[in-house]
Amino acid sequence: MKKLLYLPIVLLLIASCARGNGLYTETRVIMGTYITITLDRSGMTDDGLAKAAGDAFARITKVDNLMSTYKPMSNLSRINTNSGIAPILADPEVIENIDDASYVSSLSGGAFDITVGPLVNVWEIGSKKAHVPSPETIKKTLPLVGWRGIVVDKKAGTVFLKKRGASIDLGAIAKGYASDRAVAALLEDGIKGGIVACAGDIKVFGKKPDGSAWSVGIQNPRGPEGSVIAKLPLTDMAISTSGDYERYFFNDGKRYCHIIDPHTGYPASGLMSVTVLAKDSWLADSMGTTLFVLGPAKAYALALKHPELEVLMITDSGKILATGRFKGMKIAPVPAGS
Ligand code: FAD
Ligand code: MG
Repeated sequence: MKKLLYLPIVLLLIASCARGNGLYTETRVIMGTYITITLDRSGMTDDGLAKAAGDAFARITKVDNLMSTYKPMSNLSRINTNSGIAPILADPEVIENIDDASYVSSLSGGAFDITVGPLVNVWEIGSKKAHVPSPETIKKTLPLVGWRGIVVDKKAGTVFLKKRGASIDLGAIAKGYASDRAVAALLEDGIKGGIVACAGDIKVFGKKPDGSAWSVGIQNPRGPEGSVIAKLPLTDMAISTSGDYERYFFNDGKRYCHIIDPHTGYPASGLMSVTVLAKDSWLADSMGTTLFVLGPAKAYALALKHPELEVLMITDSGKILATGRFKGMKIAPVPAGS
């Protein structure tokens, strides 16, 4: 497993998750990161809470088993190794993610593109082997990227990548999707309120046992882990942060992060972090990455066109760009620079 992601959005309540507060909390490592589930204990027995959390973790594990590129036998890995060779039967959840990703690709002019897999592989950001590839390598890799090269046959239930060597990476959408699936399981099990946090992809539902909203903090992209630039009360919303401080490396004083511009083949720059609020976690997750790729000006213009999203962006120079409820909110200053 590579370096575990720390939580770009900080669950402020974690320290107070003792039983006496009416909360149940459990953390597991899945998808290479920490997943924390926090539940309102109201009306539930200890066994009922443990079962509900277990059911939610099982949904997340299912996403991991189907969609991990770190597992050679996952459904997604089999689609990737068969690129240019043969269509592969795909689980409906994999097809749902690919459909959702295509929607985000089309609304962003391809800034979001799950076929970045080959570029992710040549940069190896997040591993000890991370390095700046030669311009020739980038040039050779770029033609393999392009979301329109994914063929989904819904009738047959298959996915086919047209180009040999192409590959799909769902790293920017499937953690959000997993949060959505986990919350659905918790509601089915009768939980009244809670939080599912797949690292920085968080979904909250209902309220705290005292009837107040859950409180979520946003990580300072240049501060120590756990330092926040803003706190916001949330009910029935998803929030995701994409940042350049999670998986990155420095070369000649320049920071290279794991979010890649599919048009240039190089890591995106111009923003330190993007936080997106939306109803669904898959959308908040994928749009955080999308806006990060687009850079400040284009991202802000796109955010203004989508009132279903509320966005907080911090540029490289520490400037705040905000829409929705983030506008006018007190945000702690972030120093400019790498
Ligand atoms: P986000 O901004 O949400 O996503 C960035 C990631 O999306 C990149 O790392 C890349 O994979 C992809 N991406 C980059 N550019 C683009 C683009 N332009 N368009 C679309 N996608 C892009 N990590 C491990 O170390 N070990 C594991 O075992 C492991 N298993 C995983 C299993 C699953 C099912 C998933 C979804 C992820 C797994 N990860 C694992 C990956 C890890 O958790 C990722 O770093 C994480 O998904 C990136 O999320 P983020 O919130 O930091 O960034
Ligand atoms: Mg994301």
